[in-house]
Amino acid sequence: MKRVAIVTGGASGIGAAIACGLAAADATVLIADMNEADGEIRARDAGGSFVHADLTKREDCRKIIDAAIERYGRIDFLINNAGFQHMDPIPDFPEDEWDKLIAVMLTAPFLLTKYAWNHLIESNRGRIVNIASIHGVVASPYKAAYVAAKHGLVGLTKSAALEGGPHGLTVNAVCPGYVRTPLVEKQIIDQARTRNIPVEDVEEKVMLEPAAIKRLLDPQDIAALVVFLCSKAAWGITGTTQLIDLGWTAH
Ligand code: NAD
Repeated sequence: MKRVAIVTGGASGIGAAIACGLAAADATVLIADMNEADGEIRARDAGGSFVHADLTKREDCRKIIDAAIERYGRIDFLINNAGFQHMDPIPDFPEDEWDKLIAVMLTAPFLLTKYAWNHLIESNRGRIVNIASIHGVVASPYKAAYVAAKHGLVGLTKSAALEGGPHGLTVNAVCPGYVRTPLVEKQIIDQARTRNIPVEDVEEKVMLEPAAIKRLLDPQDIAALVVFLCSKAAWGITGTTQLIDLGWTAH
């Protein structure tokens, strides 16, 4: 019997690598994303299917779960990965960006967890993996909404783990340092602007400054950890924040 995985934000970066990794581990993958063109391609690559969804909308969160059940009749793994970044000092931080960030990166994972809950329990190997961030554990300036959403997601992970544990459902947060994806390429420009430093200094002086290993992560590095957390062997790991942070928090 094939396991069925939902991967939000699977059209790009880390989500696309997770979709590929889970497909290679013999799961059927449903990619949910607002980027239809890339999402369709990634879903085809993973031998799965695509559902268009804007995660700021409650009805689209419901649509994702309905699509998985209509198409495949079960849900085993829910990977809450979709996200984006906005950088500005708090006094200038646009309020609509705050709302959108919290909606996509905190409210949508809650709604998807809620709507998928009974299916995940029926699975007997239900897994939720929330892609948080190092910013779910520590903070950086100019990222108030992102840091708040990711800290919130870590909290949601712990609560869901406590409720899911008696039913064999595990819930974990993966907390990566900087990963080379389109999100980070854009952020290099934002970091240079908000910190008033040259673009070519951002990687070394900002992103890798606190890291022990001076290299950006690859999306596949994160996917490998997610695939392990979805495996049978990971049955006892729940409620954790899995750091993959190049030694950032060892200070
Ligand atoms: P990415 O920009 O490459 O991919 C993000 C995906 O999310 C895109 O396909 C985008 O269309 C989708 N998305 C954004 N808003 C959406 C919405 N409203 N509805 C549906 N889909 C939406 O970014 P990435 O770097 O792969 O990031 C994936 C996750 O990993 C995010 O949650 C991010 O916060 C987290 N993360 C990234 C890094 C990093 O350095 N890249 C580090 C730690 C955590």
